[in-house]
Amino acid sequence: MNEQLNGTNVILVPILSDNYSYILEKNGDVAVIDPGQPEPIINELKNRDLTPSIILNTHHHSDHIAGNKAIMDQYGATLIAPEKDFHRIPDIDISVKEGSPLTFSSEKIQILETPGHTNGHICYYLPESKIIFAGDLIFAMGCGRAFEGTPEELFNSLQKIKALPLETQIYCGHEYTLANAEFCLSIEPDNVDLIARHKIVKQYRDNNLPTIPTTLEEELKTNVFLRAENASTFADIRAKKDNF
Ligand code: ZN
Ligand code: FE
Repeated sequence: MNEQLNGTNVILVPILSDNYSYILEKNGDVAVIDPGQPEPIINELKNRDLTPSIILNTHHHSDHIAGNKAIMDQYGATLIAPEKDFHRIPDIDISVKEGSPLTFSSEKIQILETPGHTNGHICYYLPESKIIFAGDLIFAMGCGRAFEGTPEELFNSLQKIKALPLETQIYCGHEYTLANAEFCLSIEPDNVDLIARHKIVKQYRDNNLPTIPTTLEEELKTNVFLRAENASTFADIRAKKDNF
Protein backbone atom coordinates (compact mmCIF):
# COMPACT_ATOMS: atom_id res chain seq x y z
CA MET A 1 0.00 0.00 0.00
CA ASN A 2 1.29 3.42 -0.95
CA GLU A 3 0.37 6.26 1.36
CA GLN A 4 -0.06 9.49 -0.51
CA LEU A 5 -0.74 13.04 0.52
CA ASN A 6 -3.96 13.81 2.36
CA GLY A 7 -4.38 10.36 3.90
CA THR A 8 -5.06 8.88 0.49
CA ASN A 9 -3.95 5.27 0.06
CA VAL A 10 -3.42 3.42 -3.18
CA ILE A 11 -3.27 -0.37 -3.25
CA LEU A 12 -1.78 -1.85 -6.37
CA VAL A 13 -3.39 -5.09 -7.53
CA PRO A 14 -1.54 -7.11 -10.18
CA ILE A 15 -4.03 -8.75 -12.53
CA LEU A 16 -3.89 -10.80 -15.76
CA SER A 17 -0.33 -11.13 -17.12
CA ASP A 18 1.01 -7.60 -16.74
CA ASN A 19 -1.88 -5.28 -15.82
CA TYR A 20 -2.35 -3.24 -12.68
CA SER A 21 -5.70 -2.42 -11.20
CA TYR A 22 -5.84 -0.06 -8.21
CA ILE A 23 -7.85 0.33 -5.04
CA LEU A 24 -8.03 3.92 -3.82
CA GLU A 25 -8.92 4.44 -0.17
CA LYS A 26 -9.46 7.62 1.80
CA ASN A 27 -11.29 8.05 5.11
CA GLY A 28 -13.04 4.73 4.56
CA ASP A 29 -14.23 5.64 1.06
CA VAL A 30 -13.08 3.19 -1.58
CA ALA A 31 -12.77 3.27 -5.36
CA VAL A 32 -11.54 0.61 -7.76
CA ILE A 33 -9.73 1.69 -10.91
CA ASP A 34 -9.71 -0.38 -14.10
CA PRO A 35 -10.75 -3.79 -12.80
CA GLY A 36 -9.69 -5.97 -15.72
CA GLN A 37 -10.19 -9.19 -13.74
CA PRO A 38 -12.49 -9.49 -10.73
CA GLU A 39 -11.04 -12.20 -8.46
CA PRO A 40 -7.73 -10.66 -7.37
CA ILE A 41 -9.44 -7.34 -6.65
CA ILE A 42 -12.33 -8.85 -4.70
CA ASN A 43 -9.81 -10.92 -2.69
CA GLU A 44 -7.82 -7.81 -1.86
CA LEU A 45 -10.99 -5.93 -0.88
CA LYS A 46 -12.06 -8.83 1.37
CA ASN A 47 -8.64 -9.12 3.00
CA ARG A 48 -8.68 -5.45 3.87
CA ASP A 49 -12.39 -5.34 4.69
CA LEU A 50 -13.04 -2.60 2.13
CA THR A 51 -16.28 -1.88 0.29
CA PRO A 52 -15.93 0.09 -2.94
CA SER A 53 -18.60 2.66 -3.73
CA ILE A 54 -17.31 3.52 -7.20
CA ILE A 55 -15.43 1.97 -10.11
CA LEU A 56 -13.48 4.20 -12.48
CA ASN A 57 -12.65 3.07 -16.02
CA THR A 58 -10.05 4.82 -18.16
CA HIS A 59 -11.03 3.18 -21.46
CA HIS A 60 -13.01 0.36 -23.00
CA HIS A 61 -10.34 -2.34 -23.43
CA SER A 62 -11.34 -5.56 -21.71
CA ASP A 63 -8.14 -5.74 -19.64
CA HIS A 64 -9.44 -2.60 -17.89
CA ILE A 65 -13.17 -3.34 -17.59
CA ALA A 66 -13.81 -7.11 -17.51
CA GLY A 67 -14.24 -7.08 -13.72
CA ASN A 68 -16.77 -4.22 -13.62
CA LYS A 69 -19.85 -6.40 -13.44
CA ALA A 70 -18.66 -8.76 -10.71
CA ILE A 71 -17.67 -5.84 -8.47
CA MET A 72 -20.93 -3.99 -9.18
CA ASP A 73 -22.93 -7.13 -8.38
CA GLN A 74 -21.02 -7.85 -5.21
CA TYR A 75 -20.85 -4.35 -3.74
CA GLY A 76 -23.43 -2.26 -5.61
CA ALA A 77 -20.65 0.04 -6.77
CA THR A 78 -21.40 2.86 -9.20
CA LEU A 79 -19.62 2.59 -12.56
CA ILE A 80 -18.01 5.79 -13.82
CA ALA A 81 -16.56 5.69 -17.34
CA PRO A 82 -15.78 7.91 -20.34
CA GLU A 83 -18.79 9.46 -22.06
CA LYS A 84 -17.28 8.59 -25.45
CA ASP A 85 -17.29 4.92 -24.47
CA PHE A 86 -20.96 4.92 -23.54
CA HIS A 87 -21.80 2.59 -26.45
CA ARG A 88 -19.03 0.11 -25.75
CA ILE A 89 -18.68 -0.19 -21.97
CA PRO A 90 -21.73 -2.00 -20.56
CA ASP A 91 -23.69 -0.83 -17.50
CA ILE A 92 -22.22 2.69 -17.12
CA ASP A 93 -23.98 4.63 -14.33
CA ILE A 94 -22.23 7.96 -14.76
CA SER A 95 -20.41 8.95 -17.92
CA VAL A 96 -17.81 11.68 -17.63
CA LYS A 97 -15.76 13.98 -19.82
CA GLU A 98 -13.26 16.76 -19.26
CA GLY A 99 -14.81 19.25 -16.86
CA SER A 100 -17.34 16.82 -15.37
CA PRO A 101 -17.61 17.42 -11.62
CA LEU A 102 -16.48 14.36 -9.71
CA THR A 103 -15.51 14.01 -6.06
CA PHE A 104 -14.14 11.15 -4.01
CA SER A 105 -14.16 11.41 -0.22
CA SER A 106 -14.57 15.19 -0.50
CA GLU A 107 -11.58 15.42 -2.83
CA LYS A 108 -11.96 16.68 -6.36
CA ILE A 109 -11.16 14.28 -9.21
CA GLN A 110 -10.32 16.01 -12.45
CA ILE A 111 -11.04 14.23 -15.72
CA LEU A 112 -8.48 14.66 -18.49
CA GLU A 113 -9.56 13.62 -21.97
CA THR A 114 -6.54 11.86 -23.42
CA PRO A 115 -7.37 10.30 -26.82
CA GLY A 116 -4.86 8.36 -28.91
CA HIS A 117 -4.67 4.87 -27.45
CA THR A 118 -8.47 4.83 -27.81
CA ASN A 119 -10.75 7.69 -28.81
CA GLY A 120 -12.52 7.76 -25.48
CA HIS A 121 -9.51 7.36 -23.18
CA ILE A 122 -9.54 9.51 -20.03
CA CYS A 123 -7.26 9.93 -17.01
CA TYR A 124 -8.38 10.60 -13.43
CA TYR A 125 -6.28 13.25 -11.70
CA LEU A 126 -6.51 14.05 -7.97
CA PRO A 127 -4.81 17.45 -7.61
CA GLU A 128 -4.88 17.50 -3.80
CA SER A 129 -3.33 14.04 -3.44
CA LYS A 130 -1.14 14.70 -6.52
CA ILE A 131 -1.87 11.35 -8.11
CA ILE A 132 -3.12 10.36 -11.53
CA PHE A 133 -4.62 7.13 -12.80
CA ALA A 134 -3.36 7.18 -16.34
CA GLY A 135 -4.64 3.90 -17.83
CA ASP A 136 -2.80 3.14 -21.06
CA LEU A 137 -1.86 6.73 -21.93
CA ILE A 138 1.54 6.75 -20.29
CA PHE A 139 3.66 3.97 -18.77
CA ALA A 140 6.94 4.15 -16.89
CA MET A 141 9.34 5.09 -19.72
CA GLY A 142 6.63 4.35 -22.27
CA CYS A 143 3.25 5.23 -23.67
CA GLY A 144 0.29 3.35 -25.09
CA ARG A 145 0.02 2.42 -28.74
CA ALA A 146 -2.04 4.70 -30.96
CA PHE A 147 -4.71 2.07 -31.62
CA GLU A 148 -7.60 4.38 -32.49
CA GLY A 149 -6.08 7.84 -32.66
CA THR A 150 -3.17 9.36 -34.54
CA PRO A 151 0.32 9.72 -33.04
CA GLU A 152 -0.34 13.46 -33.01
CA GLU A 153 -3.40 13.01 -30.80
CA LEU A 154 -1.39 10.81 -28.47
CA PHE A 155 1.37 13.44 -28.39
CA ASN A 156 -1.18 16.14 -27.50
CA SER A 157 -2.63 13.95 -24.76
CA LEU A 158 0.83 13.45 -23.27
CA GLN A 159 1.29 17.23 -23.14
CA LYS A 160 -1.56 17.29 -20.59
CA ILE A 161 0.47 14.98 -18.36
CA LYS A 162 3.55 17.14 -18.88
CA ALA A 163 1.66 20.14 -17.53
CA LEU A 164 1.01 18.52 -14.12
CA PRO A 165 3.19 19.18 -11.05
CA LEU A 166 6.57 17.39 -11.15
CA GLU A 167 5.83 15.39 -8.00
CA THR A 168 2.66 13.87 -9.45
CA GLN A 169 2.56 10.11 -8.81
CA ILE A 170 1.56 8.27 -11.97
CA TYR A 171 -0.36 5.00 -11.64
CA CYS A 172 -0.53 3.34 -15.05
CA GLY A 173 -2.25 0.26 -16.40
CA HIS A 174 0.68 -2.07 -17.11
CA GLU A 175 4.05 -3.30 -15.86
CA TYR A 176 6.00 -2.70 -19.07
CA THR A 177 8.81 -0.80 -17.37
CA LEU A 178 11.84 -2.98 -18.04
CA ALA A 179 11.13 -3.49 -21.74
CA ASN A 180 10.37 0.22 -22.02
CA ALA A 181 13.69 1.12 -20.39
CA GLU A 182 15.49 -1.02 -22.94
CA PHE A 183 13.70 0.71 -25.77
CA CYS A 184 14.41 4.18 -24.33
CA LEU A 185 18.11 3.26 -24.11
CA SER A 186 18.08 2.45 -27.82
CA ILE A 187 16.94 6.04 -28.48
CA GLU A 188 19.05 7.81 -25.82
CA PRO A 189 22.02 5.52 -25.08
CA ASP A 190 23.95 8.31 -23.30
CA ASN A 191 21.18 9.49 -20.98
CA VAL A 192 22.75 8.95 -17.53
CA ASP A 193 19.41 9.15 -15.69
CA LEU A 194 18.07 6.48 -18.00
CA ILE A 195 21.10 4.23 -17.56
CA ALA A 196 20.73 4.49 -13.78
CA ARG A 197 16.99 3.91 -13.84
CA HIS A 198 17.34 0.88 -16.10
CA LYS A 199 19.61 -0.75 -13.49
CA ILE A 200 17.14 -0.04 -10.71
CA VAL A 201 14.10 -1.36 -12.54
CA LYS A 202 16.07 -4.46 -13.55
CA GLN A 203 16.69 -5.18 -9.85
CA TYR A 204 13.03 -4.57 -9.02
CA ARG A 205 11.84 -6.91 -11.73
CA ASP A 206 14.44 -9.57 -10.88
CA ASN A 207 12.83 -9.57 -7.42
CA ASN A 208 9.35 -9.52 -8.92
CA LEU A 209 8.58 -6.11 -7.41
CA PRO A 210 6.34 -3.54 -9.10
CA THR A 211 8.00 -0.44 -10.55
CA ILE A 212 4.81 1.61 -10.23
CA PRO A 213 4.01 4.34 -9.32
CA THR A 214 6.39 6.52 -11.22
CA THR A 215 6.54 10.30 -10.97
CA LEU A 216 6.30 12.94 -13.64
CA GLU A 217 9.75 14.15 -12.62
CA GLU A 218 11.31 10.75 -13.32
CA GLU A 219 9.44 10.42 -16.59
CA LEU A 220 10.63 13.81 -17.83
CA LYS A 221 14.21 12.62 -17.37
CA THR A 222 13.85 9.16 -18.85
CA ASN A 223 10.70 8.68 -20.95
CA VAL A 224 11.63 9.29 -24.58
CA PHE A 225 7.96 9.70 -25.55
CA LEU A 226 7.52 12.52 -23.08
CA ARG A 227 10.87 14.00 -24.05
CA ALA A 228 9.91 14.24 -27.76
CA GLU A 229 9.76 17.93 -28.56
CA ASN A 230 7.19 17.80 -31.32
CA ALA A 231 4.55 15.54 -32.80
CA SER A 232 6.66 14.37 -35.72
CA THR A 233 9.61 13.32 -33.53
CA PHE A 234 7.09 11.61 -31.28
CA ALA A 235 5.49 9.77 -34.23
CA ASP A 236 8.95 8.56 -35.31
CA ILE A 237 9.72 7.19 -31.85
CA ARG A 238 6.26 5.61 -31.55
CA ALA A 239 6.76 3.85 -34.90
CA LYS A 240 10.18 2.55 -33.81
CA LYS A 241 8.70 1.18 -30.59
CA ASP A 242 5.97 -0.63 -32.53
CA ASN A 243 8.72 -2.58 -34.29
CA PHE A 244 11.20 -2.91 -31.42
ZN1 ZN B 1 -5.70 -0.47 -23.46
FE1 FE C 1 -4.33 -2.16 -21.27
